[in-house]
Amino acid sequence: MPRRTELIEGLMQRHPLVPREAVIKEDLLRGGVAFDESALSDSANEASGDIKPKSYFIFSFDHGTLPELGAAALRRPPEEIVLTGGPYELRRTVVSVRVNPSSPYRVAADGDGVLGLYLDGQRISDVGVPPMPEYYRHKLANGKSVMEVAPTIQWGYLIYLTVFRVCQYFGAKEECQYCDINHNWRQHKAAGRPYTGVKPVEEVLEALEIIDKYDTAKTSTAYTLTGGAVTSQIGGKDEADFYGQYAKAIEERFPGRWIGKVVAQALPKEDVQRFHDYGVRIYHPNYEVWDRRLFELYCPGKERYVGRDEWHRRILDSAEVFGARNVIPNFVAGVEMAEPFGFKTVDEAIDSTVEGLRYFMAHGITPRFTTWCPEPTTPLGKANPLGAPLEYHVRLLQEYRATMEEFGLSSPPGYGPAGPGNAVFSVSSFMDSLPAEQAAPEAPEKV
Ligand code: SF4
Repeated sequence: MPRRTELIEGLMQRHPLVPREAVIKEDLLRGGVAFDESALSDSANEASGDIKPKSYFIFSFDHGTLPELGAAALRRPPEEIVLTGGPYELRRTVVSVRVNPSSPYRVAADGDGVLGLYLDGQRISDVGVPPMPEYYRHKLANGKSVMEVAPTIQWGYLIYLTVFRVCQYFGAKEECQYCDINHNWRQHKAAGRPYTGVKPVEEVLEALEIIDKYDTAKTSTAYTLTGGAVTSQIGGKDEADFYGQYAKAIEERFPGRWIGKVVAQALPKEDVQRFHDYGVRIYHPNYEVWDRRLFELYCPGKERYVGRDEWHRRILDSAEVFGARNVIPNFVAGVEMAEPFGFKTVDEAIDSTVEGLRYFMAHGITPRFTTWCPEPTTPLGKANPLGAPLEYHVRLLQEYRATMEEFGLSSPPGYGPAGPGNAVFSVSSFMDSLPAEQAAPEAPEKV
C-alpha cells in the first residue's frame, strides 16, 4: 500500500473517535491538493464561470507563489471542494482549497467529466465544487467585484471582510512567522489583480447590499471583520475604531441580518467594549500558539507590543464584555511542531496545546483552530514545507473534543452546524469532529 494511504488508514484505525472525514480533511489542509488540468475551469474572469473561484480572502493558503503555481493560479481553482462517498464512505465534507501541485492528492475529471479526489492514484471520493453565487456576477458601481470586496467562504455561510489587507507588524522582526498576509498583498499587486489595501466602508456596504439582494436563501449567516494588526492608526483611527466603524455601518444598514464577528488583537477592555458597542457579537483575539517560548519566537510583534501574559489576561477580560461563549480565540494548529524551534514529539506538542485549551476552557472560553498551511514565503513554511505530522492534527481533534466535554462546553456559536456530514467550517475539521447534537445556536447568546 502506498505510504500516504497507509498513513491515513493507520490513523483512522488507531483513532476511531475521530471521523475518517476529518483525517482526510486535515491531510488536505496541511499538505494541499493538486488540480488536474481537467479539473480547472477556464474562467480567468471570476464573474463569468460556473464555479465559485478561490478568492484569496486573507492569506494565500497555497503551497507555492502565484508564478510557481502557473495554470492553477491563472485558471482559478474553486474556493472549496466538497467530498462524498468513495471507499471510505465519506459524509459530506467541505474543505478549503490549498493548492499544491506536488501533493499526492489530486482532483481530476474522469472520461465523463465527473470530478473525483485521487490519493496515490486511487479514487477516494466524489468531488463537488461550489456553484458561482449569483451575487458574484454583479459588480459595484466602481467596477470592483463582490468577490474582491466581500468574498464568502464556508459554502456561503461566512462573509469574509478583510478590510485591511496588510499588517502593521511588518518585516522579519515583527511579522508572525507563519503568516503571509503582507506577501499575499504584494503578490496580487504584482500579478495585476485587484486587491484593495484598505476597503472603504461604502464599498463594503455596497457589496453587502448585493449579497443581501441575491442571497435569497439566506445562506450567508455571519460576517467576519478582519485584517492586519493596527499598531498605530489608519485614517486617524485606532484598531477598535477602525474595525468597529465597519460593524457600526453594517448594523445600521442591515440590523441583525448577519452575526458580526471581529478578528483583532487582544485589546484593553475599554477598546473591547467599543467593539461590542459598535455591534460586534463575537470576538476572536487569537492567541496563535500556547507555548511561551514558541509565542515569543513566532509572534515577535505581538510579544513586543503586548506580551503573552497581557494578551491572555485581555482574552479573559473580554469575556466580561462579550460573554465567555462569544470570545473565541484562534490558534494555528501545527506550528507547535515546526522546525527548528518546535516540539520534537507529537506527545509534547499535544500536551502543550491541551494545557492552553484547559486554561481557556476553565473560564468558559472555547478556543478554536485553523490548520497550519506552510506557505513557502513565510519563515516557518520555508523550513517546513510538509507542515506538521498528520498524527498531531488527528490527536488534537480527539483531545479538543475530550477537553470540551470535560468542561461541559459545546461547539462555539457562529460556525454553523457541527458534526461529520454537517459542518461547513472549511479551514480545520474541528466542527466536523464535534457531535452533531451539539449544533451551535445560530445567534450568539446575550451577555
Ligand atoms: S498579527 Fe501576525 S498573524 Fe495577524 S496579520 Fe499580522 S503578522 Fe499576520
